Amino acid sequence: MSEEQGIIIKVSGPLVVAKGMKNAKMYEVVNVSDQRLVGEVIELNGDEASIQVYEETSGVGPGEPVFLTGQTLSVELGPGLLESIYDGIQRPLALIEKESGSFIGRGISVPGISREKQWDFKPVVTTGENVGEGDVIGEVQETTLISHKIMVPVGMSGKLVEINSGLKTVEDVVAVIEGEDGHKHKVTMLQKWPIRISRKDGGKRVPIEPLITGTRILDTLFPLAKGGAGCIPGPFGAGKTVTQQTIAKYCDAQIIVYVGCGERGNEMTDVLMEFPELKDPNTGEPLMKRTVLIANTSNMPVAAREASVYTGVTIAEYYRDMGYNVALMADSTSRWAEAMREMSGRLEEMPGEEGYPAYLGSRTAGFYERAGAVKCLGSGDRNGSLTIIGAVSPPGGDLSEPVTQNTLRVTKVFWGLDATLARRRHFPAINWLTSYSLYDANVSGYWTKEVAEDAIKVRGDAMKLLQEESKLEEIVRLVGTDALSPKERLVLETSKSIREDFLFQNAFDNVDAYTSLKKQYWMLKCIMTIYYAGQDVVDKEDFDFNELKELPVMAKIIKVKDIEVGKWEEFEELEKEITKSIHSLK
Ligand code: ADP
Repeated sequence: MSEEQGIIIKVSGPLVVAKGMKNAKMYEVVNVSDQRLVGEVIELNGDEASIQVYEETSGVGPGEPVFLTGQTLSVELGPGLLESIYDGIQRPLALIEKESGSFIGRGISVPGISREKQWDFKPVVTTGENVGEGDVIGEVQETTLISHKIMVPVGMSGKLVEINSGLKTVEDVVAVIEGEDGHKHKVTMLQKWPIRISRKDGGKRVPIEPLITGTRILDTLFPLAKGGAGCIPGPFGAGKTVTQQTIAKYCDAQIIVYVGCGERGNEMTDVLMEFPELKDPNTGEPLMKRTVLIANTSNMPVAAREASVYTGVTIAEYYRDMGYNVALMADSTSRWAEAMREMSGRLEEMPGEEGYPAYLGSRTAGFYERAGAVKCLGSGDRNGSLTIIGAVSPPGGDLSEPVTQNTLRVTKVFWGLDATLARRRHFPAINWLTSYSLYDANVSGYWTKEVAEDAIKVRGDAMKLLQEESKLEEIVRLVGTDALSPKERLVLETSKSIREDFLFQNAFDNVDAYTSLKKQYWMLKCIMTIYYAGQDVVDKEDFDFNELKELPVMAKIIKVKDIEVGKWEEFEELEKEITKSIHSLK
């Protein structure tokens, strides 16, 4: 049987138009020219199809064939995803390189998941049991950190009539399920899922657990919930990549999917070189054992970037379905939006704001809405979550541009990076006045129960002081500190300590880079004690503020971050000493 094919009539960069395509379907994968470049049908008009090609199209011209495959653009899911480094359409970079040298060749078809590798499949169900979609039927130890759950594929259910333990490749049959109609379905460890459609879950849950990142300004002031969506907009050099990577390194998600849309030529190369070297601070194991990397270096065609975020989010959902907490970082989604804009331009669609397509908003929302805390599909009470953190690089730092605006509409956390803070080398350069989290109420129960009863109060008071500080700074700029009352000076003194001793955090210092929630609480509590105790004395007649500043205990606060985790009594002692010293000024 000969393959069904159309004929190219036009090539414009990553866009190819072909005729004779009346049997093609939207989002069908096609192979373009005899080189078999991977493409996807993105528009159909009678028997003409517009095809987005994921590989370099130079040298391809009208008259050449386009082969239909009948498949939609999908990812392969199964053991072997972790530790992989893929391009935007899930081709393993290492294998492509082996086939074609360091410049990625064209038309190379390598499977996303190894067909040879064997995994020790351990069933968790027995024959005769009834199973339904999403049910876990067995496990394999995918890496030292992660047990990979093998689930019944979506749309399948019935009686388990066969289950095979032992060493299996992803294509070997591990189970046979007999449907109600008597049809026998073979189950392998390999599943496919179309990337543009979100995977089924068993219902959403309210996200109430914080994603613990160890970065103090994020956890304490602007918390993200597990299953939430957040964005990090910031101008060039303000710290988007460092922030994303620090979160990827330290956050308490069990699985990390990192999608890098190469910003500058060699930036992704940094990630590719660095990531495999990183160690999980909790287990000492290489971080890659819980990570999937998707990399678009700048020499890859623009269309692959468009696909890469969907490839990433589908893999992330798959691990969520097993009952894991998954975090996906996309850096930077602006490059993704630009890819959309370029394709839209070539399709001669009506442009929206700043040339972006009118569907930028719905695509952005569609992506972030795949985040969520869910009950997993299947029986039992497995819960999973997918947290999405997208970096945005607005040109010139102008937050009113369409990508930032559309992102802010759908994410509930805004970590605003600030060029001025970065220039002053205050890191992380997250602006505490403009940033926000709409999850603070969601996670407050966790803080109160797991960290400290007054944690929410201390945090709220600290935020208030930082806001007051910004108002007072105006006055100071005009007339100097002398015009301020001792009470106002107390506000300034405490907020300075919040900024310098608490919010400032060096991501490159192994100890400082991660702070547990309890330590975050204690650090802030000690600092806030300056304010709490100070309030009792500042209204006294003839009070000299300089005496407070010169108290020996004030020097100890600067070193509060050096008190080790677990030595809570040292924090308590410091707190008492601050109160006592300040009260002695009475
Ligand atoms: P962007 O991705 O926004 O262009 P980067 O993340 O590459 O910016 O950050 C630029 C530089 O700022 C880094 O190379 C680093 O020197 C500094 N930096 C950013 N964040 C931190 C941090 N948390 N701690 C220390 N240095 C930082």
